[in-house]
Amino acid sequence: MVKILVTDPLHEDAIKILEEVGEVEIATGLTKEELLEKIKDADVLVVRSGTKVTRDVIEKAEKLKVIGRAGVGVDNIDVDAATEKGIIVVNAPDASSISVAELTMGLMLAAPRNIPQATASLKRGEWDRKKFKGIELYGKTLGVVGLGRIGQQVVKRAKAFGMNIIGYDPYIPKEVAESMGVELVDDINELCKRADFITLHVPLTPKTRHMIGKEQIALMKKNAIIVNCARGGLIDEEALYEALKDKKIRSAALDVFEQEPPKDNPLLELDNVIGTPHQGASTVEAQKSAGTIVAEQVVKILKGEPAENVVNLPMLPMEKMSKLKPYMILAEKIGNMIIQLLDKSIEKVELTYMGELAKEDTEMIKRSFLMGILSPILLAGVNLINAPTIAKNRNIKIVEGTVSESDYGNAIKIIAKGKTEEISIVGSLTDGRPVLREINGYKVDIKPEGIICVIKHIDRPGMIGKVGLLLGDCGVNIAGMQVGRKEPGGESIMVLNVDHMIPDDVIEKLKKLENIKDAKVIDL
Ligand code: NAD
Repeated sequence: MVKILVTDPLHEDAIKILEEVGEVEIATGLTKEELLEKIKDADVLVVRSGTKVTRDVIEKAEKLKVIGRAGVGVDNIDVDAATEKGIIVVNAPDASSISVAELTMGLMLAAPRNIPQATASLKRGEWDRKKFKGIELYGKTLGVVGLGRIGQQVVKRAKAFGMNIIGYDPYIPKEVAESMGVELVDDINELCKRADFITLHVPLTPKTRHMIGKEQIALMKKNAIIVNCARGGLIDEEALYEALKDKKIRSAALDVFEQEPPKDNPLLELDNVIGTPHQGASTVEAQKSAGTIVAEQVVKILKGEPAENVVNLPMLPMEKMSKLKPYMILAEKIGNMIIQLLDKSIEKVELTYMGELAKEDTEMIKRSFLMGILSPILLAGVNLINAPTIAKNRNIKIVEGTVSESDYGNAIKIIAKGKTEEISIVGSLTDGRPVLREINGYKVDIKPEGIICVIKHIDRPGMIGKVGLLLGDCGVNIAGMQVGRKEPGGESIMVLNVDHMIPDDVIEKLKKLENIKDAKVIDL
């Protein structure tokens, strides 16, 4: 009999599904020692976010085949340790999308009709209809920022209300947005200018932090309503407060805040702000689906059927895996770098495997590269199994080729094409670790690690000094620098390793220096 250990509270329907394939032991609130003991003879472990499935827990497991995480993130599981032991990890990334989309619609209806304020007034014994005169959704323009899992669900529902939908998501091609009935705009500012309602559905990253700031709010219509059921840091709350206080925009409906729970947040004192305590995913159904989805995934794996939400790929033979793994890491790093440098949707990628690599089965390298371009822009859930499907849904064409000779031995060359721009990177290994050899045809020798600033410039005397001085004045410490050029006096690139993220205003200052053509900072 298969032994299934459940160490966090799980919905009863999920337990029923698991009971059909094994003997379920529910043991919540275990100490580390108790978990180390219990894991020894478990075939399956199912957790939520409470249980920390660390390397030592995995090492103690003698029979473990599957770890199920009822929810999105797998940060509480040491996936590498599981992979090394051949243990499959599954999760439930899509469990809460509908719940969050429905709360978004709820707030989008409640804000323009002042439903919470009117309820409070009614309960105070008042009967004031004039004060709460609202506006309709019908015929209005909704601006959706981020067209991923939740954004798409909101689009479907808003269409049923007769709204015109514009979307901002630089990583989705126009045709894909059009197929959802969304007019894609190239610029967040254009969306802010045109929309009557604005709703946010992007992950919080250094790039999206304060993406709705003073500048964007100043562009909004006087009657604009902003809804945020994504993450608090996406909106600059100070700028939002000023605009709402001075009635520059109509109202805001917030499920999420920069600090949670909010402490002395002045936004909550305003009449034109309504909100909920981060309860987007807090529904019976979302919690049930997190459990049942993961239970179904566990059952599929136990029955030897393909499961969609597998996070790792432990089924490659160990010997093959150890040979390919460094190239998979290299390809993922190149992918990370390309999406951050291009910062737009990718239409086509060409992968060329060079040297001895040309003879290998390179499927896993391709999948790792796709994970690299997708994971910085998606919340979670991109893995080696689903990366090709997600890329296909985003209309990314993939072409692969081989070359038996290369200047760098075994190497990978990747060219990514956006609508107007193209980036090419060549990488290889030194002592088993990834090294970049070329960026856009310029020879370099850089480890793809940490924070890197890539500057395009014209090769003139004193350029390195100018850049160094400006960054030094702005408190940015340069750990390493390289210059690549094709000919003296021509276009060149400078690649800097820096100790901390370079703020946007410093990048803007860099771009304004004479003979600098472009500057971008990326985080690997
Ligand atoms: P997802 O990964 O499926 O989609 C994110 C989308 O954002 C992608 O289409 C991506 O291309 C796009 N994107 C990335 N960077 C962007 C940028 N700079 N500008 C515009 N678009 C960009 O994520 P999801 O599952 O739809 O989740 C969306 C948000 O909802 C996340 O912030 C998540 O944390 C939040 N969330 C909130 C709750 C809640 O309780 N309120 C629950 C679940 C998720």
